Amino acid sequence: MKDSSNRAHKSVRRVRTDLPSHWVGDGFPVLSVFSPRTGSKALSPFVLFDYAAPHRFEPSKTPRGVGAHPHRGFETVTVVYAGELEHRDSAGNGGRIGPGDVQWMTAARGLFHEEMHSERFTREGGTMEMAQLWVNLPARAKSDPPAYQDILAARIPRVELEGGHLRLIAGTYRSAAGAETTGPARTATPVILWDGHLEAGARAQLPIPDGYSAALFVRRGKASVAGGAKTIGAGELVEFTPEGTAAQVEALEAIDFLVLGGEPIDEPIVAYGPFVMNTEAEIDQAIVDAQSGRM
Ligand code: MN
Repeated sequence: MKDSSNRAHKSVRRVRTDLPSHWVGDGFPVLSVFSPRTGSKALSPFVLFDYAAPHRFEPSKTPRGVGAHPHRGFETVTVVYAGELEHRDSAGNGGRIGPGDVQWMTAARGLFHEEMHSERFTREGGTMEMAQLWVNLPARAKSDPPAYQDILAARIPRVELEGGHLRLIAGTYRSAAGAETTGPARTATPVILWDGHLEAGARAQLPIPDGYSAALFVRRGKASVAGGAKTIGAGELVEFTPEGTAAQVEALEAIDFLVLGGEPIDEPIVAYGPFVMNTEAEIDQAIVDAQSGRM
């Protein structure tokens, strides 16, 4: 199927519904949208996606969140929709991010970090809504030094759509007329991460290159995808086939959504807890290095 811009539409590969939920530390009640355990190979370079739907926290004296823990071999990307987070890591990086901001942390050869509600949010309480995505690194980049990108909302370009918009966190958006806009995140391999909104009744063709993984997660509202092939609601993810150059979405109700995809990293993955490597031996080494302070 082709539209007037001559884009071939991606088909639906699968829809993920009834996602399991759990708490990450005492700060983040998340839906596990996908993980190595539930299968994320078709979503490469993405490895894991946790989504914390809006949750009200009462004022507290003790900051909630996740205390010091290690990572190696990939990047953690945190998108805040409501509330405020503070981050500190053993590479000496840290920052505070609020609504619309993104933190792109490259663990690479390894670090320890903590992810907490900010001091102010802890004191005042409020609603927290956030997403965390893990982006794999290719073998050649897994032993690079850690890095940190604070991507504040003001730096994220916005592309206007008919009846909506996209905020481009990572990757290039090419309009039907050929105009290109690129998100600020520096990535090891081509990654797409777009935060979007469409009013009820609006339709969009999301340009995602042929061969890329592609998925759309709905945070709020209801959408029809791939020309009416499937309907998805809040807290559900549709995975598209890599074939085709545009993912078609129509808002049945006003929707807030996240688009993710990229060039698949065609390498073996061995994931264990906070480590994502290529071999079992590298996982064993990561455990030893984390325990012996070499991270
Ligand atoms: Mn972490």
